This record gives sequence, structure tokens and C-alpha cells, in this order.
Amino acid sequence: KQRGGAGVVDFEPWMSERVMEHHRLRGDLETAVRDESLSLYLQPVVDLHTRQWEGFEALVRWPVGAETWSPAQFLPVAEESGLIVPMGAWVLRESLRQLAGWRDPRLGMAVNVSAQQLVGTDFYDITMEALTDSGIAPDRLTLEITEQAAIQDLGRTASRLELLRSEGVHVAIDDFGTGFSSLQYLSRLPVDILKIDRKFVWGLGQQAEDDVLVRSMLGLAAELGLEVIAEGVETRRQAELLLEYGCRLAQGFLFSPPRPIEELRASDPFVSPAPPMLAMPYPRPSSDQPVT
Ligand code: C2E
Ligand code: MG
Ligand code: MG
Ligand code: MG
Repeated sequence: KQRGGAGVVDFEPWMSERVMEHHRLRGDLETAVRDESLSLYLQPVVDLHTRQWEGFEALVRWPVGAETWSPAQFLPVAEESGLIVPMGAWVLRESLRQLAGWRDPRLGMAVNVSAQQLVGTDFYDITMEALTDSGIAPDRLTLEITEQAAIQDLGRTASRLELLRSEGVHVAIDDFGTGFSSLQYLSRLPVDILKIDRKFVWGLGQQAEDDVLVRSMLGLAAELGLEVIAEGVETRRQAELLLEYGCRLAQGFLFSPPRPIEELRASDPFVSPAPPMLAMPYPRPSSDQPVT
């Protein structure tokens, strides 16, 4: 009080620095979202049999100075501040815009969707508008939902997703197997695709439990008529085992890390083919020359 004001708490220097840093981060992120200066990296989803690309997953990045920040560095702030909602709308629009510029009209785009977006009343409109504006057919879009996102309001999430699904949009459960009650969500959410979390893929061929779990998830998906994408495939051995267990689709550093779309164009596997993973002829992948 002697220092003036009605201050009850003395701020330690480290506290104010933390608070300031947090505020600055939030303000900078708000500006980046408003100015659309975030960027997207795309990671190909690969057919394990042919190594052809089936589509991409859009993963948001934040260019900060010379650095490129990963979601782990700013998604918590985006979630906490609500900025995730306009950011997510931008990711939808921008990813579909980029897909529209890619020549192969069969490729799909998967977009991660957070809980706050899902429960927003305008999520259906935002999604449909992004599709209409880009001219992308709804069945080329997949919405990736985590159980954590669905858990918030399961009823509303399910009906909203069902509405979009009736338009043709696909729904994937992301990080499948890491939640506490994964199986419950399968019966209560409208789902087309399971994405097996990379935690399980990592131990394939090394930890017997992981082989059992991955095979079980593939069996479950087959019984339910769901497609499966294995995440985080880093080694040939993992890819070979996944194929052996009947998994058709995968993503991972073995095939490609997430990259800006210009780099993906430049690394068109037809131009500089990687060695065939199995004793199979290397197929012609989807090329991406500009449409003339
Ligand atoms: P996710 O959706 O499960 O995405 C997969 C993550 O695994 C990505 O991390 C990707 O870069 C990484 N990854 C891919 N292949 C491999 C591999 O072979 N090995 C390893 N170790 N990692 C691999 P990233 O880009 O850092 O994204 C992390 C998470 O942030 C995503 O996990 C997703 O939950 C979230 N996220 C990313 N973009 C968005 C977005 O636009 N909106 C929302 N709501 N969440 C997003
Ligand atoms: Mg994902
Ligand atoms: Mg379908
Ligand atoms: Mg995942």
C-alpha cells in the first residue's frame, strides 16, 4: 500500500515476466491469425501397397522470425484464448484452397478439429463454406477428432458430425487407442476412419504387446467397416508389419515429414523415386503439374 494503489499481492519479477510473456504470445498469435500469417505443412497419407499418395493431413505452423513453431508451442495458448476457433476456420479454408491447386483430383485433405470448433454453432456452415469456396467435393475432406475433443459434449458433437457426414465429409478418430475409453466413442460417434496412434506403431516388431494391439485395432476396424491409417511410421520394418497385418494406409517420416506444399511439389516421388519398400514395382505416383 505504501507503494500506492490497493495492491494485495506483490508481484515477484519472475511472475510478471511470465504473465507478460504469456500476454505477448497471445497478442502475437492473435495478430498472426488475423493477418493469416500462419502456415500449413502437409503430410502425405500413403497407400502401403503402392506407395501412392491418397491425400494429405494439414498441420498448422507459426513462422516466428527465422523459426517455425510447432503446434505444441502455441496450441495451448490458442485453446486457452479461444483463438483456436478462428485459427481452425483458417486451416479449413487454406488447406482446401491448397488442395484445389493440386492437380490430382482424387487426393483428399484431413484437417484436425478441436473441441471448441466442434461445439460452435457455426461449425457446419464454416466447413460447408470452405468446401463450396474451394470447389472441393465434401468426400475429399476428412475431419480428425480426438476423443478429448469429442468428450466435451458427446451428444452435440455426434449430431454435428452426422450432419456433415450426410454431406459426404469423412470423420476420423485421431490418436486412436490413447484415450481412456476409446471403444465407447466408436459406438457413439459417426466415424469412418481410425488413426492408430504412433505410440503403438513405434513398438511394432520390438514389443510384442504393440503387435497384438495394432492387430486388434485392425481387426476391430475391419469388423466395423472402418478404414485405418497408421501414424508415425518411421521404419521399413514397421511398414512391412503393418502391411502383413492388413493395414492399407500410413503416414510417417519413412514416407515424408510434414512439409509446405511447394516442397511437396518439388519432391514429387515420380521425379526422384525412393527405393521400393517391398519387392514390388514402383508405381507411377500422382504427379502434380499445374493444370493447363
Ligand atoms: P496429430 O494430428 O496426431 O498429427 C500427427 C503429428 O505427428 C504431427 O505433429 C506430425 O508432424 C507428427 N508426425 C508425423 N509423422 C511422424 C513420424 O513418423 N514420427 C514422429 N515422431 N512424428 C510424426 P505436429 O505437426 O507437431 O502436430 C501435433 C498435433 O497438433 C497434431 O497431432 C494435432 O493434434 C495438433 N494440430 C496440428 N495442426 C492442427 C490444427 O490445424 N488444428 C488443431 N486443432 N490441431 C492441430
Ligand atoms: Mg491428426
Ligand atoms: Mg466414404
Ligand atoms: Mg495423431
